Amino acid sequence: MKHSYWENEQWFKDINFAIIGSGIVGINCALRLREKHPKAKIVIFEKGYIPSGASTKNAGFACFGSPSEILNDFNSTSEDEVLS
Ligand SMILES: Cc1cc2nc3c(=O)[nH]c(=O)nc-3n(C[C@H](O)[C@H](O)[C@H](O)COP(=O)(O)OP(=O)(O)OC[C@H]3O[C@@H](n4cnc5c(N)ncnc54)[C@H](O)[C@@H]3O)c2cc1C
Repeated sequence: MKHSYWENEQWFKDINFAIIGSGIVGINCALRLREKHPKAKIVIFEKGYIPSGASTKNAGFACFGSPSEILNDFNSTSEDEVLS
């Protein structure tokens, strides 16, 4: 793809952080970088014209680990930490 002069000047010049992929990880990475570097030029490159990975297809459950994982955590971590 050939980019115009304006696209090259505005979007692809003097990039401080380039993130590949606009899934939940890429977007969160961009947000954290913006907090730490308010003036940085942060660009996200996405191969699809919308985010095309798992983030827009998942079931929406917050996963806290299976009961067997949580029980195992009691062997190495205090009860307070496991419950929190
Ligand atoms: C059917 C399904 C159900 C799920 N259910 C759950 C759930 O209930 N709870 C849960 O916690 N997790 C769930 N998950 C897992 C969760 O969705 C993923 O772990 C999470 O979305 C991954 O995020 P990500 O940003 O790492 O990847 P993705 O969301 O896959 O993002 C990667 C992005 O990078 C882009 N990309 C790839 N290659 C390039 C390239 N070369 N150049 C530019 N862009 C590129 C892709 O197009 C995509 O937009 C599920 C996953 C699936 C598939």
